[in-house]
Amino acid sequence: MALTETEDRLEVAEEPRRRLPTAARLLGALGILVALSVLALWWLGTLATHPVFEVGRVIFGNVPGPVIAVFYMGVAAGLWLSIHLFKLRAHNWERGKPEPRTGRWLERIKRLDAGLRMKTLMRDRTAGLMHSMVYYGFLVLFLGTVTLEIDHLLPSNLKFLHGGFYQGYSAVLDLAGVVFLGGLGWAAWRRYLQPPWRIRSKTKPEDGWILATLALIGVTGFTTEAARIALVDRPAFEVWSFVGLPLSRLVPDASAGIVHQVSWVVHAAAFVALLVVIPTTKLRHMFTSPANLFLQPRQRPKGAMREMPNLMEVEDIDTIGASVVEDLTWKQIFDTDACTICGRCTSVCPANITGKPLDPREMVLKTGEVASVSAGVSPPVSLEEGIQIEGSELFSRVEPVEAWSCTTCKACDEICPVGIDILDRILDMRRYLTLMESNFPTELGKAFVAMENQGNPWGISQEQRADWTKELDFEVPILGEPGVDQVEYLWFVGCAGSFDDRNTAVSVSLARLLHRAGISFAILGQREVCNGDPARRAGNEYVWQQLALQNIQTFEDLGVRKVITQCPHCFNTLANEYPQMGGEYEVVHHTQLLAELLRQGRLDRGAGSGNRRKVTYHDPCYLGRHNDIYMAPRHVVAATGDVEMVEMRRHGTKALCCGAGGARFWMEEHIGKKVNIERAEEALETGAAEVAVSCPYCYVMIDDGVKELGRDDVVVKDLAMMLDEVQSNGEELGP
Ligand code: SF4
Ligand code: SF4
Repeated sequence: MALTETEDRLEVAEEPRRRLPTAARLLGALGILVALSVLALWWLGTLATHPVFEVGRVIFGNVPGPVIAVFYMGVAAGLWLSIHLFKLRAHNWERGKPEPRTGRWLERIKRLDAGLRMKTLMRDRTAGLMHSMVYYGFLVLFLGTVTLEIDHLLPSNLKFLHGGFYQGYSAVLDLAGVVFLGGLGWAAWRRYLQPPWRIRSKTKPEDGWILATLALIGVTGFTTEAARIALVDRPAFEVWSFVGLPLSRLVPDASAGIVHQVSWVVHAAAFVALLVVIPTTKLRHMFTSPANLFLQPRQRPKGAMREMPNLMEVEDIDTIGASVVEDLTWKQIFDTDACTICGRCTSVCPANITGKPLDPREMVLKTGEVASVSAGVSPPVSLEEGIQIEGSELFSRVEPVEAWSCTTCKACDEICPVGIDILDRILDMRRYLTLMESNFPTELGKAFVAMENQGNPWGISQEQRADWTKELDFEVPILGEPGVDQVEYLWFVGCAGSFDDRNTAVSVSLARLLHRAGISFAILGQREVCNGDPARRAGNEYVWQQLALQNIQTFEDLGVRKVITQCPHCFNTLANEYPQMGGEYEVVHHTQLLAELLRQGRLDRGAGSGNRRKVTYHDPCYLGRHNDIYMAPRHVVAATGDVEMVEMRRHGTKALCCGAGGARFWMEEHIGKKVNIERAEEALETGAAEVAVSCPYCYVMIDDGVKELGRDDVVVKDLAMMLDEVQSNGEELGP
């Protein structure tokens, strides 16, 4: 029988998984084990004796035997069902392609610990504190119940829940109950009365059900305790039950028994209901979020896209990128179950901030909706009315324009408190759109052709690549030319540094600095072709591989081992992605090298003249978030004279993109506010007279933005230019 395209993909994806015990199988076994264990506890409890202590409580006191039996069976069934529902979700995760998430165990354990202790949530203190109150309150109450069960099973001589221990236990649990209910009240206030935008836009009916179920557990915990204390005439030692004892005075003696039984049953039923609510609502993130943090460390560097087979060599590849759920990796599907719907990713997305049709949270939820609906499990959050999902087609929910709006800035990945990889799925969808459907913004077509034919997206003749060197009063050596075969560094100038007017000036400055510091370097001249980043980020893996292989071959021929780049995109691609094609080099960004040369005293620092300049620095996404380089550029800026560094509202890990990444530089920006204007406004807000940049694309975007805002008095410069002027003048610069 002929396979459909989807079935065919499934068949290919299933092959490597057969050897491993799958998560679904493990969960299936766990469910049975846990349910049987609960029933065993019931049986063991009937064997133990239950003496009455002077200071203590009777466990299951006033609860009829048949009700206790129903309780244990209900908890056993509830736990089995809960784990079974997770098992069905695991089948969904397992539809994805393999993706290794092993190794780096210490880091994983640290992340798991951070997840379990909610450390990542504390980046937003208000939300973090509220969540902690609910989480820790619930945890202590749950452990209190476990303690009760342990004491219940122990022989009389080993029972410990009496006397002073019981009193301390009562106080701790009452405190936990207050914290838990306080946290729930705060959560309800935040969600319904004063919601921050990012949760307001996503409040669903199940949010109310989750809060109500948890609140019912907390409230009936206290009413059960109060009625139990009333039943035993409110003994003085119960003073430690500082909530239960005063509350017991509200319970009439005559009805204490029935109040206790009803409260107890409702409390137990609410707990069993919670067991089902957890896997079927977003509350599942109690388990999936810490697990996702454990799974977060990946084997490729942060800045590297997912590896693909060599497209020049493979013959039997049936699809490229992601268009159906089965094209995603299992981790990308698991991510959708770990999402807490907090919207932090959306709040930092430059595309979303400036009104583009891209919302990273929706990207996660939409892929999750398609995955879960096509797998027959509940969606990440309940679906809006009228949503149509066709099979496992991702593009039945995701519009291509959403994927094309992304600047690949990684702000979403960086801020996500539960380690979700959002960017990867967007780039995988772009790969499909570009290579399988030729569905990309028309402007990109020109850049693709130029990269393929001329070796650079500008489409300028390669013969002009080294023309910028003519401005220098010394010769820039070209590797491979007569007499130039042994240099320490290859300086990979990049296309912008070679062809763009503003950026050739950066190349001139950097050449002077390297020359002055006595660095042994050479460039490639006409043999250098684009590193391929714009092609790869625009989904054209084919062109990227072509360019990468060409550069790697040139490097190989010339014995290149150490590389300097002045463009963070060149830096990221050469350092993090060329190894996927067999090219391993020691790559340094010019900001790192200049900082080191300053430290060694091989370059001059600008002298303080008393004429202090306010300078702000714009972090490029591909240097900052993709490669964690934040301080080296700041050290260089600080060395350019009498500088007062002022930071923008969004800087460092939270810096706003300039709008050019992800090949957006080569696309028109028709929708919403321009990202570079938003960023230029932030730079101007600081009152800085100079904006330092360290990326050729940021340079063009921020400079254009500042000029478009009519602020010609503010100077935008690459920090190499600023440092070069200090060397030339021997003094600081003014705008
Ligand atoms: S990478 Fe940047 S632009 Fe793309 S979705 Fe994430 S935050 Fe938005
Ligand atoms: S992807 Fe992460 S940051 Fe975005 S809503 Fe989900 S949990 Fe929050």
